[in-house]
Amino acid sequence: MKTIDDLGDLQGKKVLVRCDLNVPLDGSKITDDGRIRASVPTLRRLLDSGARVLVVAHLGRPKGSPDLSSSLEPVSARLAELLGQPVRFAEDTVGPEAQAASEQLGNGEIALLENVRFNAGETSKDDAARGEFADQLAALADVFVSDGFGVVHREQASVFDIAKRLPAAAGGLVQAEVEVLRRLTTDTKRPYTVVLGGSKVSDKLAVIDNLLAKADTLVIGGGMLFTFLVAQGHEVGTSLLEQDQVDQARGYLAKAQQLGVDIVLPTDVVVAPAFAADAPATVVSIDAIPSDQMGLDIGPASAEAFAKIIRNSATVFWNGPMGVFEMAAFAGGTRSVAAALTEVNGLSVVGGGDSAAAVRLLGFDEAAFGHISTGGGASLEYLEGKILPGLVVLEEQS
Ligand code: ADP
Ligand code: MG
Repeated sequence: MKTIDDLGDLQGKKVLVRCDLNVPLDGSKITDDGRIRASVPTLRRLLDSGARVLVVAHLGRPKGSPDLSSSLEPVSARLAELLGQPVRFAEDTVGPEAQAASEQLGNGEIALLENVRFNAGETSKDDAARGEFADQLAALADVFVSDGFGVVHREQASVFDIAKRLPAAAGGLVQAEVEVLRRLTTDTKRPYTVVLGGSKVSDKLAVIDNLLAKADTLVIGGGMLFTFLVAQGHEVGTSLLEQDQVDQARGYLAKAQQLGVDIVLPTDVVVAPAFAADAPATVVSIDAIPSDQMGLDIGPASAEAFAKIIRNSATVFWNGPMGVFEMAAFAGGTRSVAAALTEVNGLSVVGGGDSAAAVRLLGFDEAAFGHISTGGGASLEYLEGKILPGLVVLEEQS
């Protein structure tokens, strides 16, 4: 994969950089700026080398036309603070404002283009429509740097097609993320433990297939654990459950046994009558979940058991909170798992947007983890063994 070093002297060059600046917003307030901060080192490096930097990124899921509730303008202000220099904001992506920015930026100056997903061409399934939009993007710059790791699994104009139109290279963030993922899939130090949780059950079940062949232990918490409990014949009350995935979960349990991989499920859970911060929480055994209550966190005995497995591992990959950490009563499991990851003597990796946000919200020092990934879906697809279009296209560059 080509890197920024391979692009040669960037002094005075117009560099289009794809970043992942898709941060959570409350109105126009950024509630977690982790992805912006992760983008800074590559941008800083390009600016210091005298490049004229145009940043292209998306926010939220606008439907291919302008929608001011997902404008990148608040991100522009935060990026300027973090870089310690002005960031020009273009109110379009390839229109007159973007073109003016492209023409007027001086060496070492930077502009952020408006949400790329305001343009239907960005995510179009039609190669020609996407290509046409990529042509317009390419016309703004001399070279392309792909640094939005969270989108490299997308075959989109600003990720994939653009790299076929300009000299292209991976930025420092994409390079670092790929290196960590490589260590999770090749010559991994053992014992290797994978901890899965969160709420996107069906998304994450797919990764289990591939990880069963690699990990020694698979620890399961969060919303997906109830699908496994049902597969084992337990009743789960009103907990999150994907009934159509139960057979799949049962299959994984059988396959794990065949392969000699441990799948560890909680022995106790924290339940409540409603999905609410002030709902009365109680700890029950997994075979005593009341029919009118839902499991919102793993219980304290399970949290301790999970932490022990994690601490004794040489490699740990964690994706997905153990419970509804956003509510204090259901944050205990996530806190224990995160704390254990900071004690790993080896490589500890946090993947997933909400997991990374949980680590920060619960007050952990990010430096205590081996790596906090910016890409949830992208990391999972890599671990599933899928081909990531945004990486392949960089490898094809000659
Ligand atoms: P990530 O972004 O780290 O990949 P997900 O998006 O899959 O994680 O899931 C994060 C969400 O899962 C959090 O908002 C959390 O509240 C929720 N969650 C965790 N455990 C449960 C549970 N038992 N029931 C419902 N939601 C849960
Ligand atoms: Mg998430």
